[in-house]
Amino acid sequence: MLALAAFPLGYKVRIFEPNNPCPAGLVTPFHNCANYDTEAALVEFAKSCDVVTFEFENIPLGAAALIEKHTPLFPSSKGLELTQDRLVEKEFVQSLGLEVAPFMSVENIEDLKAAIAKIGPKGILKTTTLGYDGKGQVLINGPDEAESAWREIGATPAIFEGLVEFEFETSAIIARGQDGQVLHFPNSQNFHVGGILRKSVVPAPLSESQIKAAQNIAETIANALNYVGVLAVELFVTKSGLVVNEIAPRVHNSGHWTIEGCKTSQFTAHVHAICGLPLGDSGLNAANVEMENLLGDEILDAHELLTEPKTYVHIYGKDGIKAGRKMGHITRLGRKAL
Ligand code: AMP
Repeated sequence: MLALAAFPLGYKVRIFEPNNPCPAGLVTPFHNCANYDTEAALVEFAKSCDVVTFEFENIPLGAAALIEKHTPLFPSSKGLELTQDRLVEKEFVQSLGLEVAPFMSVENIEDLKAAIAKIGPKGILKTTTLGYDGKGQVLINGPDEAESAWREIGATPAIFEGLVEFEFETSAIIARGQDGQVLHFPNSQNFHVGGILRKSVVPAPLSESQIKAAQNIAETIANALNYVGVLAVELFVTKSGLVVNEIAPRVHNSGHWTIEGCKTSQFTAHVHAICGLPLGDSGLNAANVEMENLLGDEILDAHELLTEPKTYVHIYGKDGIKAGRKMGHITRLGRKAL
């Protein structure tokens, strides 16, 4: 989707991706296919690009740092470093004076029992690294579930987080340019099932002051990182305010609706930001917009959804359908135009 956004701006997109075929490789012919630890391939790739970005945060930090030595990397590896470790990320967010769920670092089963005693009894055990879409997470209902939860995550460094009683979840998506200008996208209300994003609905039922608070949070984080590009902050909306759940240093699934829903999509805004162009306009194209992920074999019937009015289908071209895997999405624009 980033490559598709860059193309009409006259940019040629080169991808570095260990897998071949891969979805982005189907839309650009320039593909450096190598592993992230092949230094010569990374350097060759970096030298052949004017600017480099990334669209998932589990790229090894060493690879990002090497690229950064040869070519501007936006956002920088700082954001990547931070979000690759939940503990580091939470401490960083807290250091900015922002609210996060109560948490404790867990290195062993004794730590987990102590964390449950202090924060619990209900909470979520999350691995510090490589977790996504609810993976590497176990819900704990009480101390008697500690041992099995610890085994389930593979007895690996983790955090135990208290359960946040939220009214709903929202995202604050922001684009920040090289000159520090920012563009806020409208907030979505996000619906998760089993830790996986199912739906994002816009507008979110937030008050003006909640919207302002969400924007302030995103801006505080982006400024602290001198961030360039699109950044997403997942938030819990609670009775006593907004709580930061997670930061994504990239275009985000809860912003996919912006392709048809906004005058400038998150993907175009990201390309604008990393290329030093004016960020664009995040104004809505419809009074309400809804994005629904197509998971697993739901993708097989995707074209049939086109019979619905103002419905747009996106199929990612991923190889191999797996239950719960994000294979595509649909966006529905409200009938009432703005
Ligand atoms: P995460 O991978 O951390 O974004 O978690 C995936 C989903 O699990 C979130 O979007 C929430 O729906 C839920 N979740 C995660 N952490 C908490 C928490 N501390 N309290 C309540 N729900 C949570």
